[in-house]
Amino acid sequence: LFRNRLEFYAAAKVASSFPVPDLPEVAFAGRSNVGKSSLLNALTRQWGVVRTSDKPGHTRTINFFKLGTKLNLVDLPGYGFAYAKEEVKDAWEELVKEYVTTRSALQRVCLLVDTKWGMKPRDHELIGLMEKSQTKYQIVLTKTDAVPPMDVARRAMQIEENLKANRSIVQPLMIVSSRSGAGIRCLRTALAKISRF
Ligand code: GDP
Repeated sequence: LFRNRLEFYAAAKVASSFPVPDLPEVAFAGRSNVGKSSLLNALTRQWGVVRTSDKPGHTRTINFFKLGTKLNLVDLPGYGFAYAKEEVKDAWEELVKEYVTTRSALQRVCLLVDTKWGMKPRDHELIGLMEKSQTKYQIVLTKTDAVPPMDVARRAMQIEENLKANRSIVQPLMIVSSRSGAGIRCLRTALAKISRF
């Protein structure tokens, strides 16, 4: 799947400009700095070529990419800048809320969580939305090379315990490191199952 060419094809600031759904979609969400760009790069090996900036101060949009004619990858704007203005936060919330709750093509949200820091209130907010709309999601623990293996295991257990009640929509937890490459193939395999063959 990830040998297919990655191509940027749409950016949306408002829900009315979401592209017409044509392929199954997997969206990537998480706090800013969680390692989303690095993970997308590790997964596709083409991210650097197409990536548009979502650094603080830039316009924040939902960005849509095609992996050949198999799967769409959707980059949700990172959240949790301590200094994000209220109106920026509200706009983000509305846009992401609209996307995760109404998007018919959305098959999976990969919610990235930094292994060292665990889940934060904004992550729980997003989970709350996905539960309401019954959107399938999967926690992806990132940067596992940066913490001792015991702490990775502890964090994974803590999160699984936390999400136990929502078994029907929660997909197996993934443990990855873009730096060491650990878990990347496993995540690729999981996502390939969603793609159109
Ligand atoms: P984004 O803001 O979520 O797109 O995060 P980036 O991919 O830009 O990464 C944020 C910071 O985390 C950068 O300094 C990266 O070098 C670092 N980082 C990303 N992935 C990893 C990883 O797998 N291991 C380690 N140790 N650091 C990482």
